[in-house]
Amino acid sequence: MLFERAKAVFPGGVNSPARALKHLPTPLVAKAASGPYLYTDRGRLVDFCLAFGAIILGHAHPKVRRAVEEQLARGWIYALLTEEEVLFAEKIRAHVPSVEKMRFVNSGTEATMNAVRLARGFTGRDYIIKFDGNFHGSHDYVLVKAGSGAATWGIPTSAGIPSDVVKMTVVVPYNDVDAFVKAVREVGDRLAAVIVEPIAGNYGLILPEVEFLKALREETERVGALLIFDEVITGFRVGLGGAQGLYGVVPDLTTLGKVIGGGFPIGVFGGKSFIMDLVAPQGPVYNAGTFNAHPVSIAAGLAVLEELEGGQVYSVANDAARRMAEGIRDLAERVGFDVVVKHIASMFQFYFKKGDVKTPQDVRESNEKLYLKLHELAIGHGVYLAPSQFEVNFTSAAHTAEVVEEALGALEKVFRELRREVGGNS
Ligand code: PLP
Repeated sequence: MLFERAKAVFPGGVNSPARALKHLPTPLVAKAASGPYLYTDRGRLVDFCLAFGAIILGHAHPKVRRAVEEQLARGWIYALLTEEEVLFAEKIRAHVPSVEKMRFVNSGTEATMNAVRLARGFTGRDYIIKFDGNFHGSHDYVLVKAGSGAATWGIPTSAGIPSDVVKMTVVVPYNDVDAFVKAVREVGDRLAAVIVEPIAGNYGLILPEVEFLKALREETERVGALLIFDEVITGFRVGLGGAQGLYGVVPDLTTLGKVIGGGFPIGVFGGKSFIMDLVAPQGPVYNAGTFNAHPVSIAAGLAVLEELEGGQVYSVANDAARRMAEGIRDLAERVGFDVVVKHIASMFQFYFKKGDVKTPQDVRESNEKLYLKLHELAIGHGVYLAPSQFEVNFTSAAHTAEVVEEALGALEKVFRELRREVGGNS
C-alpha cells in the first residue's frame, strides 16, 4: 500500500503535517487536479481546500499553464535579474501601495522570517508580539503558543526551538485591544514589531474587529515599532489590495505568498522603501536565495494577476463562498445542528457550536469531532472541505453556481448521515 511505503520514507508518511489527515484511515492520495476538482484515490472531489488557499483561478488554469510553458521553453532558472520580475513587482506595488519595495522569496515562511528580521534590524530591538491562533509559517521566531494568561512570554510550539529565541516573542489574544495595549506597555521600548494576520485564516476563519487593527497601527506607531501584516492568505484573495485595502489600515511591512504564486512556490516581503533599503545588498539585513524570484513562479504569478485584474474572478469566487456559507447554515439548521458560519470574500468556515466565533477560544470551544466526522463523510460524497475546523475553506473562479449546487447537494446527504450517526448537537 502506498501509505506504508510513504511511512517508510517520510515521517508520518507525509511531507507536511496537515496532509496526514489523521481522522481518516489513510491520507488522501492526489492524482490530478483541474478546475474545482481534485482527482484522488477516493475519486473526484470538489476542492474547497485549494492547496490551503494557493489556488484562486481553479486548478490547472489554462492561462497559468501557458505562461509556465512559455517560460519553460526559455529555460527555467537563471539566478539573474529578469524583466518579468520587475514587471511583477511593479504590478504588486500598484495594487498594494504600502509595498513600495519588495524581495521575492520562496514561501510564506521565508517571507515572515525575513520581515521579522528586517523589523529587528530596522529598530535595533529584539521583541515581537504575535497573536494567539495566528500562524506565520514554521520558523523559530513565530512557533510560539499562547498560555493561559493574557499575554504569554515564549512557550515554543515545537521541540528544538531555543528558549532564548522564543522568550522574545510575546503572544497576545486576537481581537483583544486591552490585552494588546497592556502587552505593548510591558514590552515597552524593546518592541521591534507586531505581526498579525489581518484576517485570521489559520484558526478557522476569525474576522478582525476594525478597532483591533486600528489599535495595532496606533500603538506600534506610538512606541516606534513596525506593524507587519501577514497577508500570505489574504493578499490578492480578499481583493487586489488585500486586507489592508479592505480595512484601510496600512502596515509598515507586508508578507505575501500562496495566491500570488499561482500554485508555484513564492513568498514576498515588502514595505516602505526606507525600511526595505536595509535589505542586502543595499543594507545590512541579510537575505539571499538560489531560487528567489524563480522564473516559473513569477510567470505563474503574472498570469494570475492579469486574470485578477480582469475582474470576473472575485465575483465568481466570492459568490461561491457566500452561497456555500448560506447553504451550510441552512442545511445544518434543517437537519438540527447548531453551527456558526463565518465568511468573507472567497473564504468560509463553519463550527459546530452555539453563539458566535470571534476569538481563537471560541474555535476551541466548538465540537471538533463532529467537524472531522462530517469531513470524512463529505469525502465519501465527493466534497473535500478544509481538513480541520482550524483551517479555512476557499473557493475559486472555477467554483461556478453549478459546482456550488453540486457540493451543497452532496453536503445535504452528508449532514443527514451525520445526524443519523451522532444524533445532532442541539
Ligand atoms: N503566513 C500565513 C498567514 C499562512 O497561512 C502560512 C501558511 O499557511 C504561512 C505564513 C506560511 O506560508 P508557507 O506555507 O508558504 O511557508
